[in-house]
Amino acid sequence: MSKLYFRYAAMNAGKSTALLQVAHNYEERGMAVLLFTAAHDDRAGLGQIGSRLGLVRTAATFGPDTEFDRARLQALAGGTLACLLIDEAQFLTGLQVRQLHRMAHVERLPVICWGLRSDFQGEAFAGAAMLLTLADDVEEMKTICACARKATMNIRIDGDGRRVQQGEQVVIGGNERYRAVCPSCFYSDADTGAVAPGLFG
Ligand SMILES: [Zn+2]
Repeated sequence: MSKLYFRYAAMNAGKSTALLQVAHNYEERGMAVLLFTAAHDDRAGLGQIGSRLGLVRTAATFGPDTEFDRARLQALAGGTLACLLIDEAQFLTGLQVRQLHRMAHVERLPVICWGLRSDFQGEAFAGAAMLLTLADDVEEMKTICACARKATMNIRIDGDGRRVQQGEQVVIGGNERYRAVCPSCFYSDADTGAVAPGLFG
């Protein structure tokens, strides 16, 4: 049975690495996969999925208007499509998650999504909220806060290393970085510790 999967985590838990590993596993068996990541600007077309371990692959990008249509995806894949792999799935719209859920069950195409659950203010991303509602298989990927507790939240840090608590959910082209923290550190005002690159999950 095909399913919609959601693998969620805080920043830097290795989501993109896991995605690239799954892609490799399929392709090693001669099966075609399609990789998607969120478009962070107006340039349509291609983006990159980068693992902090050094692997980088080109991926198609999705924006709020992208239609996840089986025939279109099949044409993009160029072979029999075995699985759809979506990074930064927190940026999907609720409608897109609905399309993907339907596709998994009606068109029998497995869809695996990786993404954040909450933003730097502890609010749900729309895509994550819908994935938590509809995904058939939900799993948390674990990562560790600088204080050694489990990190489940994210904080935003500006170019000077200071924590940012106000602002838009997504900042395009800024110097912001994100760091995974435990709830205890999230609710404290601590802003020390290693700063990780923002776009690599
Ligand atoms: Zn902590």
